[in-house]
Amino acid sequence: MDTHPLRCTCGTLQGRVLSPRHAMGRGVCYCRDCQAYAHALGRPRDILDAMGGTEVVAVTPAQVVVDRGLDALACLSLGPRGLLRWHTRCCATPVANTPRDWRVAYAGLVHNVLGSDASIDAAFGAARANVNTKSAHGKPPATPLRTVGFVIGAVAKAGGARIGGGYRRTPFFRDDGRPIVEPRVLTREERDAAGAAARRNEGVGVA
Ligand SMILES: [Zn+2]
Ligand SMILES: [Zn+2]
Repeated sequence: MDTHPLRCTCGTLQGRVLSPRHAMGRGVCYCRDCQAYAHALGRPRDILDAMGGTEVVAVTPAQVVVDRGLDALACLSLGPRGLLRWHTRCCATPVANTPRDWRVAYAGLVHNVLGSDASIDAAFGAARANVNTKSAHGKPPATPLRTVGFVIGAVAKAGGARIGGGYRRTPFFRDDGRPIVEPRVLTREERDAAGAAARRNEGVGVA
């Protein structure tokens, strides 16, 4: 089967994305939470683009296979109801963001775990949607409407995982739907510090 490699920066965690051509879509998210998260990990320069965007490839969790280093996976959330933001504890590489409810079969793989831009273009296609651009540092180019439609349509399909096995096939949750590691919810102070750093566009690490 056609695959695309997953690898954290230090190489402890390695895996594959199955059938990359069936990814749901690609996006760059400029929301404040994604910016705060990059600062919380202490790697904003590696994660964010010049305008504060985070490049994400949307797949179903069943497409994500971790071959080694699964125990390096940690989970952070910006609030008690926030997205689960999976990253490695070895080198603070953002891996994927998932909903808290595992029945929503969605994983937004962060570009850092997917390799070079060129390899991402080759595996997943170059079309992407810019979302939440109001909180960008600057003015990202507008996304053609058909790309937005493509991405939104793709996310709407996330409920019915297309690659066999459905939502239960996931490296992020146990058989009973609990996350494989307890998410660490940032304290209000940590969240505020990361948010302030994101607004100032400078780094702090609290993860
Ligand atoms: Zn690592
Ligand atoms: Zn975001």
